[in-house]
Amino acid sequence: MTFTERVEFVRSTFFPRWDRKRRWQFAEVDDLDGSQGRCDREVKTIRILAGMATGDELLALVIHEIGHAASNDYHGGRWLRTMEAAAEIADAKGLAAIASLLRQQISGYRDGFRMTAAMIYGEVENCVVGAPQITFPQVVDFLRRGYGMSQDQFLRRFRRAERVFEKAQQEARESADAKAKWTAYHAGVGRLSKERFACPCAKESNVVQ
Ligand SMILES: [Zn+2]
Repeated sequence: MTFTERVEFVRSTFFPRWDRKRRWQFAEVDDLDGSQGRCDREVKTIRILAGMATGDELLALVIHEIGHAASNDYHGGRWLRTMEAAAEIADAKGLAAIASLLRQQISGYRDGFRMTAAMIYGEVENCVVGAPQITFPQVVDFLRRGYGMSQDQFLRRFRRAERVFEKAQQEARESADAKAKWTAYHAGVGRLSKERFACPCAKESNVVQ
């Protein structure tokens, strides 16, 4: 099978409803700056590095890239769902080797995405701990620049960021409160009104000896 025949096979088998108007182009190229495939949504072109992947691996690579064309540039939820749908088609058509290659990619990126997301949410918390007065837009701006993303891209990709931010702020407030009470008591204010300024260190009893 030639490259074009493989592309046609992938299109008709896995993505029969995608790009019906045939706006997308496919090209085999000699250099892709280290990657094996590229999907350029702006100029609607998929480029595949020549001579690397062969057989089922080449088909899986073309599926991976059309998966981006049909969803978005990331390896997040939408792309993962597109790939899972392709793996199910492979199952149904008895293309077990392709199904398994696709599922390897799915689990690899799913774990990778979880790690990245957990990292980002951890950084959101660090921002709040490091600068309690920081606002959510400031946190987003700071982090998204570091990862080379637009604000929209960041918010779409890390949907829990705002919730994580609010929780971190609440925790920072609570611990600041607890600290303030502790300081107030130990500074002697507590001695003036034992009932109202129970030492927060004492768990059981409000009455401090
Ligand atoms: Zn990709």
